[in-house]
Amino acid sequence: MTQKLLRQLPSIDKWLSSEPGNALCTEFSHGEVAYVMREHLANLRKNLEKGLKKIPALQSDEYFALLRADLFTRRRKSLRGTINATGIIIHTNLGRAPLAREALRAINEVTRGYSNLEFDLESGKRGSRHEHVESLLTQLTGAEGALVVNNCAAAVLVALNTFARAGEVLISRGELVEIGGSFRLPDVINRSGAHMIEVGTTNKTTLHDYADALGEATRVLLSIHPSNYRIVGFTAKPSLRELVKLSNKKKIVLIEDLGSGKLIDFKSSFLVSEPTVAHSVGQGADLVTFSGDKILGGPQAGIIVGRAELIDAIKRNPMSRAMRIDKLSLAALNATLQLYMPPNDPLKKIPVLRMISEDKANVKRRATNVLKKLKKHSAIECSLDDDVSYAGGGSLPMNGIPTTVIRLQVKGLTPNDLAKRLRETELPVIGRITNDKFVLDFRTILPRDVTDLIASIEDAIQ
Ligand SMILES: *Cc1c(COP(=O)(O)O)cnc(C)c1O
Repeated sequence: MTQKLLRQLPSIDKWLSSEPGNALCTEFSHGEVAYVMREHLANLRKNLEKGLKKIPALQSDEYFALLRADLFTRRRKSLRGTINATGIIIHTNLGRAPLAREALRAINEVTRGYSNLEFDLESGKRGSRHEHVESLLTQLTGAEGALVVNNCAAAVLVALNTFARAGEVLISRGELVEIGGSFRLPDVINRSGAHMIEVGTTNKTTLHDYADALGEATRVLLSIHPSNYRIVGFTAKPSLRELVKLSNKKKIVLIEDLGSGKLIDFKSSFLVSEPTVAHSVGQGADLVTFSGDKILGGPQAGIIVGRAELIDAIKRNPMSRAMRIDKLSLAALNATLQLYMPPNDPLKKIPVLRMISEDKANVKRRATNVLKKLKKHSAIECSLDDDVSYAGGGSLPMNGIPTTVIRLQVKGLTPNDLAKRLRETELPVIGRITNDKFVLDFRTILPRDVTDLIASIEDAIQ
């Protein structure tokens, strides 16, 4: 029986040259249509073997519509916008920091035509791409010099390669970690050409441990800010100031990898333990590295600030040419950094900072408005709840920010079904499941996304 049905399936050539096949080939390429048909035939074969008793009418209008819908889905852009309802503000998988309007405008202005990327308008001669952000970065951090590469992992790699290649770098065993996005510090250090000397223990590293490990070949002392983890309990580590004194005395370079890049000391009780870049510079770190798209709230970038002669040495390293920032990111970074300068209020203008510092009452108002609209649907059961959001992106692993969520239930759908349906809409919505309930966290839902959010939910419950 199964064998007989299997023999009735058309060959790919026959199906392609049939009337529906020809019609599809006027809209899509021959290769795309063949690919989708092949997939359908393979699925049918599998289902027949599993006991399917009837072949669907492959020449029917309904089946034609099915093939056409699949072809459109394949054509859909792979990288698309989504609504972040997870409550994790700097969500690496969702693209980290949403950009400020000013940054988007700058990308448009700089890239829709030509720009002065490496052209000095005053002299009419060749300029440097680094100059566009260097003075802003030195003003904002108090450092003598600054350099930008394409991400913070690259910043650490190029800094170590410049100063510790064929030499030694000291690092505490408590800081040999993976910092999200498979950035494993030991792997990066090894690729820099530096020999890693592990110091101390996982929970305790003293100044003496560093001093004892220091030798003829030591070039760099690397200190990593514990951004996405905490070692708690019986712990000890020297202060940055103590590390500065030691490295100055021994004439080695002290690099602090901060990761998150908090530029201003704004009053948020959820970010208190996060040091500012200016603080590290002020304490005397020779170089400080941080990301452009974490707390800073800009595009992907790796920023190195510190002593001018060291920054110059990194600029001369051919590796920094291979890791240079592109003009889109540079335009966005330039515009984002300007938002930190008076009279701008970065807490209002930079989405990440706005979300971290937004009043809970405001978040609740947004959630309440959406709740009212959702209640009109008989299939939906929903209510408000108090919950906590997180800064994410390797900042503050433990400090939650009070928030308001909508608990959403749809008749006939499990929380996982609902989450899947919402991911499959034209503008996907990514929520989270807490205590077996699907929830939408309004701290990370941008005000301008509210209308689209309702449309996506209505789409998902059809
Ligand atoms: C996130 C992070 C990095 C990696 O930054 P990318 O910009 O993603 O390359 C490096 N160091 C620390 C401490 C971090 O938190």
